[in-house]
Amino acid sequence: MFGLIGHSTSLEEARSKALALGYPEYAEGDFEMWCVAPPQLVETVHVTSRTGQVIEGAYIDSVFVPEMLSRFKTARRKVLSAMELAQKNDIAITALGGFTSIIFENFNLLKEQHIRGTTLEWERFTTGNTHTAWVICQQVERNAPLLGIDLAKAKVAVVGATGDIGSAVCRWLQRTGVGELLLVARQQQRLQELQSDLGGGRILPLEEALPEADVVVWVASLPQGLAIDPASLKKPCLMIDGGYPKNLDSKFAGEGVYVVKGGIVEFWQDLGWQMMEVAEMENPRRQLFACFAEAMLLEFEGIHTNFSWGRNNITLEAMELIGGASLRHGFQALGLDPARLGQLAAV
Ligand code: NDP
Repeated sequence: MFGLIGHSTSLEEARSKALALGYPEYAEGDFEMWCVAPPQLVETVHVTSRTGQVIEGAYIDSVFVPEMLSRFKTARRKVLSAMELAQKNDIAITALGGFTSIIFENFNLLKEQHIRGTTLEWERFTTGNTHTAWVICQQVERNAPLLGIDLAKAKVAVVGATGDIGSAVCRWLQRTGVGELLLVARQQQRLQELQSDLGGGRILPLEEALPEADVVVWVASLPQGLAIDPASLKKPCLMIDGGYPKNLDSKFAGEGVYVVKGGIVEFWQDLGWQMMEVAEMENPRRQLFACFAEAMLLEFEGIHTNFSWGRNNITLEAMELIGGASLRHGFQALGLDPARLGQLAAV
């Protein structure tokens, strides 16, 4: 059995979801009530691979909302309790979705293996970042040519280059052979280490990288107030919005700037679940985060281990393995909006 640990995008959205799912006491609860509420296993689902194989899974809502990020103890308890619930349900492999993997890493929860009477078994959990990184690379490689961008000559900026997903994307694109990688993050020491590992790439601040880039891969959670003038961007410019939350469309999409929802996959048939409706997917019956899909893929493949774990451990071999499984079982990376591509062709 596979598991997915997720959360709502805001308290307001969480309340309306609770009402729809038949939890009126949560729908009426205030922020303090949500802070103490335990995780819920809200849905089970059967998933059929394109190969015909069927697996069973469960969605666990951690009852965390991003407004709790500033409350260290609450965020920590939410993530660990959701993991405990997954393990108590004997789920073999569970993906930590949304902010839960970031909380796990940034709050160093690896030290917190004991929760109440349970010793968490790390091999039952995955961040899902290997599949996310592979999907984002596919989105770059498939969509750039559709806009007339020749990757072999293109400048590709990776915003969040030193992160777990970003560094894997850089390694993959370096091997693919793009014109130049522009490496963007805040901590210079880590950028220099990455540059030396890659044996290339140019370190630039965000505001200098953007006007140079033909492709921008966003794999950082950026401040809401980030203001960048779309007029300063190259045209065409392909943007892969891989961060969470996905908010670049409203900031940038316009004449010549094309935004793809990064790290999202579409399954070959309806999944028959409700959960992604709340994650604002365009086709919630089939679309889901690539990190969630990784748990499904590991279950399909019988790989019951923490496949994606820790920081900057993602190898190209692991990306190829999970990418091959992704295609085999019927997942496809989201691409450019066909309506916008049609407009481009008509020009
Ligand atoms: P990490 O914490 O490992 O990496 C974050 C990276 O972003 C680091 O390089 C960090 O470097 C950089 N960064 C953070 N803030 C800024 C900033 N203001 N300006 C420039 N760089 C910045 O995160 P992950 O790699 O695990 O995840 C990256 C993103 O992908 C997250 O937003 C996460 O939520 C999202 N994600 C999306 C998924 C999906 O859509 N399917 C699945 C999993 C994750 P520094 O601190 O030095 O600036």
